[in-house]
Amino acid sequence: MKPPLPEPDRLKSILDTVVEEVREAAPRLHAEAVAEAEAQGHPAPRKGDFDRFGIAVFTRDGDLVSAGNAGTAFPIQSISKVFALEVALEALGERLWTRIGREPSGDPFNSIIDLERCKGVPRNPFINAGALVVCDVLVGLGPASRPNDHVVDFVKRQIGEERIAIDEEVEASDRKGGDLNRSLMLMAKHHGNLRHEVEAVMDAYVRQCAVALDCRGLAKAGRFLMHDDPQESRERGMAASARARRILAVMMLCGLYDGAGDFAYRVGLPAKSGVGGGILAVAPHRASIAVWSPALDAMGNSRLGVLGLESLARRTDWSVFGAARD
Ligand code: GLU
Repeated sequence: MKPPLPEPDRLKSILDTVVEEVREAAPRLHAEAVAEAEAQGHPAPRKGDFDRFGIAVFTRDGDLVSAGNAGTAFPIQSISKVFALEVALEALGERLWTRIGREPSGDPFNSIIDLERCKGVPRNPFINAGALVVCDVLVGLGPASRPNDHVVDFVKRQIGEERIAIDEEVEASDRKGGDLNRSLMLMAKHHGNLRHEVEAVMDAYVRQCAVALDCRGLAKAGRFLMHDDPQESRERGMAASARARRILAVMMLCGLYDGAGDFAYRVGLPAKSGVGGGILAVAPHRASIAVWSPALDAMGNSRLGVLGLESLARRTDWSVFGAARD
């Protein structure tokens, strides 16, 4: 039996209320961020970043409902790791897990310490080390519509669009400032877990990070994770719906950097965030959800984005841990 889903009009009014709630809370969250930055000697967060928040929901019935700044494009950054994982899992099936684990790391997303401890087998596909090994798999899959465009092609198919914007500035600066990522790849290579040239994998990685979507596009791009589409469930290696269920499990445990536990506690939805300020969350069998707001917390998660998802989960009872009954 399918779980209940609000009608689009009702959903729109829920999203408008979420936006209102987030806007009301924004000055308090800004003040908290300023205090944190002062205590740690970091530059003060920009007030303007707390003025922008967007949310979009794509439902299993194909309705796309949105509110706030849902039409502002941003680089999806690490959210691309979900799409890359889907493409690699579809190609390799369970064999992928001989090269990458699926345990939360507890270390920052770009940490190299754990990779040394684990002898070149990254703890999960959503920390950078793991995402780079996934990109190594993608590079080995042969040409996409252009070299390195496996993720771009996948996103285009999900959204049903011919063209997807790439934030070329982000692509160039991630390549230029990517020496830590290169180090991760060299460590993996040292342990025999990287098959291609470091720069070839780097090209694929920075390109997928630079895919630019707005909340409406991102919510649609996550539709395959609802695992409710009979057409998607045709057998191709591992069935699409079985794959989605497994990817959601990894998202729940590893999707919000080292803030995944707090997010599960507050929101209760599998999700993946990126330093572009976006978060893709999924209410299984119901909807794919995207939020965006550029101010990040210390772990790299969107401050208003997390709050917005917390508000949405509470108002819809979409937490995978069940409805609140108090
Ligand atoms: N391009 C970023 C990096 O690898 C992605 C960061 C992120 O969104 O977590 O450093």
